Amino acid sequence: MASGLAYRLDRPSRNFLDIHSAPRKRFESAVRLYRARCQKPQRLHCQPPLPLHQHAQSKWSSLPLEIVRMIFLNLDMIALGTLRLVNTTIHHQVDAALFEYRLLRDHAAETLQALDLAQCTHYFSIEQLYHEFSHPRPRTCANFGPYLYLPTLSRVCFPCLMQHGRYRVASLEDVLQFYRLPLEDWCHLPVIYTAFDLLGKYPMSERMLVDVTQAEALHKQHGSPPPPREGSTVYYGSTFHCRRASTVAFPYWDPHVRVAEPGAYCLGCTVFWERSRLKRRVDPRTWEQYYAWAAKSPGHGAVDRAFRLPELRQHFRTCPHVVRRFAHEDEVARRFNVPIGRVFRVPTPRRRRHGGGGEGRAALRRLSVAWLLLNVILRGGS
Ligand SMILES: [Zn+2]
Ligand SMILES: [Zn+2]
Repeated sequence: MASGLAYRLDRPSRNFLDIHSAPRKRFESAVRLYRARCQKPQRLHCQPPLPLHQHAQSKWSSLPLEIVRMIFLNLDMIALGTLRLVNTTIHHQVDAALFEYRLLRDHAAETLQALDLAQCTHYFSIEQLYHEFSHPRPRTCANFGPYLYLPTLSRVCFPCLMQHGRYRVASLEDVLQFYRLPLEDWCHLPVIYTAFDLLGKYPMSERMLVDVTQAEALHKQHGSPPPPREGSTVYYGSTFHCRRASTVAFPYWDPHVRVAEPGAYCLGCTVFWERSRLKRRVDPRTWEQYYAWAAKSPGHGAVDRAFRLPELRQHFRTCPHVVRRFAHEDEVARRFNVPIGRVFRVPTPRRRRHGGGGEGRAALRRLSVAWLLLNVILRGGS
């Protein structure tokens, strides 16, 4: 374990599905419309608006809290938010019994807003969300994953998102055509809606995106022969923008230390990469060039890699570029001369004293003092 300087990104969702990229008013009206659409079927079945019948209310109150929790956990954030408004009993039950809901709202508020912006909140239960929230790694590697790939609600790291076949995403239209799926099947696929210019200077037109692996599985369920892959945009089209538009920053909730970790980066690796890269390129022309993940030059490996603090200490032990001293106060990390995050020190953890050894030494000290006293008394007596 070693100490060193690190930084966290000021805007972890920048270059991904970022609620701050959308104009505030348009964002709010889009989310309002989406939520109203999700609540519509419930309103149709519950006339007049929602106060529970006395009998139903007493039945609900008699349910064991474990059952109530199970029901709540199976709801999505919108349904639970609506249910919470029904009466004070349910409101208190949600607040008291559902720590998952509270933690997600407190520590992953921007992620939840991004799910609303992508109009996919209603696909996922609170249990699914919390499971990913408290799970630090992607299923595709052993690194820390600071992002959430929305089509399958999977935690992911940046290199895996860019390279791994598990995170292929394509437009709904292309996928339905390619796999010849009947129209009624697409309701089984979570659809990610991209309506805003989320990617800054390289905008993407409005699209509905779905996960290719899920579509493939659906196609196999029908027992259809595999479609020819040559020339298909589903397989060979550039999915770089689509993958990032379907992904959002997602902190990890560590239930042991009760802290939400968005991911920290090694300052030394970033500074080294920036120095060596600047000789060749001053400003990235594409987002692909912005990142170091696809480069071959030394030192690129850890630039886009987020760490949890204990793993970062391990990295500092072997990192040839580790920086241990501040150049000046209020130091910030930069990419292409743009500040991206404040620098902080990751100290070496304090060593734990072994309880048994400490107690043993104290007992020895007490024994030697007693022996000395005994000697003094015996000599005094003789
Ligand atoms: Zn990975
Ligand atoms: Zn490093």
